[in-house]
Amino acid sequence: MNSVSQEFDAIVIGSGIGGLVTATQLAAKQAKVLVLESYVIPGGSSGYFDRAGYRFDVGASMIFGFGKEGTTNLLTRALAAVGESIETIPDPVQVHYHLPQGLEIKVHRDYEKFLRELIDRFPHEEQGIRKFYGECWKVFNCLNSMELLSLEELGYLTRVFFQNPLACLGLAQYLPQNAGDIARRYITDPLLLKFIDMECYIWSVMPAEKTPMINAGMVFADRHYGGINYPQGGVGAIAQKLVTGLEKAGGEIVYKAKVAEIILENGQAVGVKLVSGQEYRAKRVISNATRWDTFEKLLPAAAMPQAEKNWQKRYQKSPSFLSVHLGVQAEVLPPGTECHHILLEDWATMENSLGTIFVSIPTLLDPSLAPSGYHIIHTFTPSWVAEWQGLSPQDYEQQKEIAAGKLIDRLEKIFPGLDQGLDFMEVGTPRSHRRFLGREDGTYGPIPTKKLWGLLGMPFNRTAVPGLYCVGDSTFPGQGLNAVAFSGFACAHRVAVDLGF
Ligand SMILES: Cc1cc2nc3c(=O)[nH]c(=O)nc-3n(C[C@H](O)[C@H](O)[C@H](O)COP(=O)(O)OP(=O)(O)OC[C@H]3O[C@@H](n4cnc5c(N)ncnc54)[C@H](O)[C@@H]3O)c2cc1C
Repeated sequence: MNSVSQEFDAIVIGSGIGGLVTATQLAAKQAKVLVLESYVIPGGSSGYFDRAGYRFDVGASMIFGFGKEGTTNLLTRALAAVGESIETIPDPVQVHYHLPQGLEIKVHRDYEKFLRELIDRFPHEEQGIRKFYGECWKVFNCLNSMELLSLEELGYLTRVFFQNPLACLGLAQYLPQNAGDIARRYITDPLLLKFIDMECYIWSVMPAEKTPMINAGMVFADRHYGGINYPQGGVGAIAQKLVTGLEKAGGEIVYKAKVAEIILENGQAVGVKLVSGQEYRAKRVISNATRWDTFEKLLPAAAMPQAEKNWQKRYQKSPSFLSVHLGVQAEVLPPGTECHHILLEDWATMENSLGTIFVSIPTLLDPSLAPSGYHIIHTFTPSWVAEWQGLSPQDYEQQKEIAAGKLIDRLEKIFPGLDQGLDFMEVGTPRSHRRFLGREDGTYGPIPTKKLWGLLGMPFNRTAVPGLYCVGDSTFPGQGLNAVAFSGFACAHRVAVDLGF
């Protein structure tokens, strides 16, 4: 394709879920859209890879947003907008926690069953537990009663306010608050407060006091409302279906198309240049790369707008992950094993590198992802890129082997015989996340440098550079597939209004 002379309405840099939702929403409105993806398949952190008969999810596997009702089921809606849908398998338990002080809790899809399990463990906190999670439902019910589009578009804000004034006022009240403040209002038991820190940490990578209440409300209610649903065929199927829908709607995607720079004319974004030298022009440019990559690599770092400098003071890069992808004999998993687990042995290490261990076993929901008689275990734990720099290729391989061995040893506590039952292992480090996902330092996303006013500090989609927008986890409302889908809906809406669609 020679597109130098062709002008698109919008170019999207990157085909993560944020980028693809933006592109499909715009294409559905008849905009001429081009997605440029540096890798060979779409999806970014929600992509997949095949090895030895196993299909592994790169990252995400606890999937929100596939509910059937309400307005917060954004993955269902994004697919439907381009005539696509996906079979999903409901997960009866969001997560099984294995925490210090013998705290073993399952978060059942059934809300009352979950509350009962928690209250049985903390009977003296029954009222506090019901009030805290009850406030989460208030946030969710407000969100789930309105169309979720761009909060920086006055026409939409006015319309949504007049349609549902109470929900809007309710949300406005929670926007500057953090989950920890609300938890501490109702709960005093230190162990239960630590549990709520972990409830937040597993998706926000921050304790409750730094986790915005809007996000907590979404997660802590939607897991019981729309539920956690695993896409048939693996998480990678979501991006693939979005691409099918994009192309059906007239949009285009090019793989192995790494954008080297955003072209500016008179200070305005007018197109992009690939590492190959190929140029594409568009009325609007949307970056699905992280804000650090966008403003330090795709644009000259020395000319960074003040608004971005301010954002970088408020938010820092979270660590990346050490990811160990295992193929194991089915006998390793005790009967009744759940799909998602969290393991921590010492509260003091919850936020540390190699502290909390995350586990996903998607083959318990979709056995087609592994050869018969085997399961996938994807286990990951926070790790900083600095811990993996400056090593010879040999030392790097050795460090991977040692680190993976230590994770497996720790997991023997919940899966005795794991080491014996190993069939396949592949280890990814922060360097792999950086390389394959194009994310600076392999970061999972932005986290506040200090306690902020809830979500108020998170930027929307427009940027200080005219014609340039950002979408994905470094825009409102943050990390997670359903969250970046929200950011995609908002971004497409803002761009469509700006383009007059
Ligand atoms: C290990 C792990 C586990 C996770 N678990 C969950 C989970 O269970 N549930 C959940 O909801 N979320 C989970 N997440 C988070 C979730 O996956 C992310 O928040 C989300 O996928 C980010 O989407 P995005 O659209 O912002 O960008 P990304 O997924 O980062 O996609 C960006 C895309 O842009 C491309 N790109 C970047 N730069 C360029 C360039 N210069 N030129 C061309 N293309 C470029 C990249 O190749 C990539 O495809 C997990 C993440 C990780 C890493």
